[in-house]
Amino acid sequence: MKLILLGPPGAGKGTQAKIIEDRHGSVQLSTGDMLRAAVAAGTQVGKQAEAVMARGELVPDEVVVGIIADRIDQPDCAKGFILDGFPRNVAQAEALDRMLADKGLKLDAVLELGVDDEILVGRIEKRASETEGGPRADDNVEALRKRLEVYHAQTAPLIGYYRDRGVLKTVDGMAGIDAVSGAIEAAIG
Ligand code: AMP
Repeated sequence: MKLILLGPPGAGKGTQAKIIEDRHGSVQLSTGDMLRAAVAAGTQVGKQAEAVMARGELVPDEVVVGIIADRIDQPDCAKGFILDGFPRNVAQAEALDRMLADKGLKLDAVLELGVDDEILVGRIEKRASETEGGPRADDNVEALRKRLEVYHAQTAPLIGYYRDRGVLKTVDGMAGIDAVSGAIEAAIG
């Protein structure tokens, strides 16, 4: 199964990606997780990304497109993958289209998790208070506001992009974790 999980920060993309991974064997590919690992490891990419991420802005397209292009070629992705946090804008979506076409691959679905902004602020505050080893550098009110602004301006247009291509499925992301995963199963099953 080759899926994209689309939704604002705090919508539950990571949680649902892990559930789908367990059920279907598709691999979760989170650009946010990969970038955080690069920052922690102090790589060139990490050094480039750290300050941008802390501000809640987007890392340059060529960086994340390069990360995904390398990762998708790994053998474990042959079973399928769940893109979590990528693409984040139309340029990345077009790059992904080209990448998949070159490999003769096709997306099964793009799952949009719909959540109201007010609920997201509460969820992120909860995540910040519960994260082992301290909150993420971008889990604070100022960075979250920026991430939401970036989501609405740059990522939300992808809803129309994928709807036009007939692959969009929308799920209510405000329900509980089990209800959301049940709705996802119904949508992709
Ligand atoms: P996430 O864990 O998906 O919320 O991503 C955390 C941060 O990593 C984002 O706010 C961006 O700074 C960066 N990031 C993650 N994925 C992307 C992407 N596809 N394009 C650009 N920046 C990204």
